[in-house]
Amino acid sequence: MDLGFSCANCERVVCHTNHAKDGPDNCPTRLMGDTMERVKDEYLKLEVAEFARQASIQEFECYLQLPEGTTPRNPRVEETAQFAKKMGYRRLGIAFCAGLRQEARILDEILTRRGFEVVSVCCKAGGVPKETIGIAPEQKIAGPEHWETMCNPIAQAMVLNESGAEFNIAVGLCVGHDSLFFKYSNAPTTVLIAKDRVFGHNPAAGLYLSKSYYRKLRRKEE
Ligand code: SF4
Repeated sequence: MDLGFSCANCERVVCHTNHAKDGPDNCPTRLMGDTMERVKDEYLKLEVAEFARQASIQEFECYLQLPEGTTPRNPRVEETAQFAKKMGYRRLGIAFCAGLRQEARILDEILTRRGFEVVSVCCKAGGVPKETIGIAPEQKIAGPEHWETMCNPIAQAMVLNESGAEFNIAVGLCVGHDSLFFKYSNAPTTVLIAKDRVFGHNPAAGLYLSKSYYRKLRRKEE
């Protein structure tokens, strides 16, 4: 069903208030009442209820009320560790990109110091050549004549599944590889680092600059 939902372009945003039914004609809050009722039932499910409650408490605890106003206080690394503690997780999985090995190592150290058991798996685990998934020689980054190991997010997920990781953390997985990891991971996954090769893993910078230096991002295409 396509009812033209476009919260991104909404000018009313009344869902933030107790007048949530006063949204525009294409408002999902207005039009999807049955779905919203089913959603409530999902939050009552045993495996979801505590997760959702703790996530919301975590969100609350990320702010301080100071005399000069509300201010954020937790970097995402801190938030990740705090949330995992709240949920009572002992064993955390890190699924990282080979290009962010240093970051994965630092994260492993931080989480270990915070009392977690950490299991980490690199995207190249399995050592499978790219030809296996139909990559042509001229599509290899290092050049046609070189061996190139494919990123293997399914292996990362399955190894972490079998290692008993209770909560996974994605560190710099590529677009698409991350999707496969999410699909195959049994444990819930959070993203610590979203890879952006240009903007130092801060993809939002592309949006911030899309009306100035990176206008090309706004080009029209069919
Ligand atoms: S849910 Fe409705 S009111 Fe909220 S942003 Fe979307 S369209 Fe606007």
